[in-house]
Amino acid sequence: MTSRFGTSETLGILGGGQLGKMLLAAAARWDVHPAVLDPDPECPCSKWTSLFEVGDLNDAEAVRAFGAGCATVTIEIEGVSIEALADLERQGVKVYPRPETVRLIQDKGLQKEFFSQNQLPTSEYVLYDGIEALREDVAQGRRKLPLVWKSRKGGYDGRGVSIVQQPEGLNVLPDVPCLVESLVSIERELACVGARNADGDIALYPVVGMEFHPEANQVEIVHLPSGADPALEQQVLELSRQILEGLNHVGLLAIEFFATRDGRILINEMAPRPHNSGHLFNEAAECSQFEMHLRAILNLPLGSTRVDKAAAMVNLVGAEGHSGPVHYVGVEAVLAEAGAYIELYGKTQTHPFRKMGHLILLDDSLQAVLAKARRFQHTVQVHSR
Ligand code: ADP
Repeated sequence: MTSRFGTSETLGILGGGQLGKMLLAAAARWDVHPAVLDPDPECPCSKWTSLFEVGDLNDAEAVRAFGAGCATVTIEIEGVSIEALADLERQGVKVYPRPETVRLIQDKGLQKEFFSQNQLPTSEYVLYDGIEALREDVAQGRRKLPLVWKSRKGGYDGRGVSIVQQPEGLNVLPDVPCLVESLVSIERELACVGARNADGDIALYPVVGMEFHPEANQVEIVHLPSGADPALEQQVLELSRQILEGLNHVGLLAIEFFATRDGRILINEMAPRPHNSGHLFNEAAECSQFEMHLRAILNLPLGSTRVDKAAAMVNLVGAEGHSGPVHYVGVEAVLAEAGAYIELYGKTQTHPFRKMGHLILLDDSLQAVLAKARRFQHTVQVHSR
């Protein structure tokens, strides 16, 4: 087998946000030459590779031109031109995750159909072309409230999701293709990050638990152990393996789950790339999720997912009332502590709830690590100047 190390092959990364920046850091440890395409000349990746290009990720021509010089192309965000990914694949560029998978995951409606076609447990749902048909169904009593409305495309971090309690709640929703789900009674939210390479090898990280900000609908803390019953964790791991195989996936895949109050596991959604729920493995596991993604897309042996400690990740988001050039307060207090790590994404501008960095805490037990997370959560503040 000829080694791909010691060649000058370029890895193209579509998207230059924090996930891209951490992928660059992992690539820098090896002899991998990453190029990045992003519309924002100030994005986190812009300063960290000499092969940085400015371009619209949904402009098929721009993506084709960028990818044509690469041996392998990957993504750090799903919102990219599928047409261009498919063209690049036809031209012999290795495109991972596969364009078909990105197309499916861009659309929450297609994700739901994939789950039901493969007998994978997910909440009940109905697809709608627009808001009028849904309003009509609610008015006629064919659809009961409360319900969960989700835009099929473009939503993230709770944007594009709305829990509708009253018919008037439908009036403020945009008229876009959507899906409606039954409101699940959630005991806890779990995630599993896994990877599969082109040879079909699979690695699964231990299941993590997620705590959400009550208003922003955004993950505040991710922790390990997850706190869920081991039998439920086992179900999550088995479902994750089935999904990786069912998608014929290559690369990292993060899957979010609900553990319901009546003891069931339901799949919520997935992302075909490194993910917020996997950051804690950067410090807690033998192989980070970023190195794992590289191993998977370059068809290398997958890394070890072994974790020996309890871990927590705290998202550092822009403080309310602060918009403009960023200024971090309290970082030194984290650096002074053993078992505490900080990652700052290098975004120049902050605004309320924008993800600007994260903390990772390690300790001996879930209780201890959560206490540390809660203590440090307010120590670091993301302000504007
Ligand atoms: P996003 O893509 O923005 O992360 P999700 O589909 O994950 O959107 O939904 C965001 C959050 O909304 C979930 O983490 C969960 O807390 C809540 N949620 C989503 N779907 C349901 C549901 N069917 N029932 C109850 N809560 C839900």
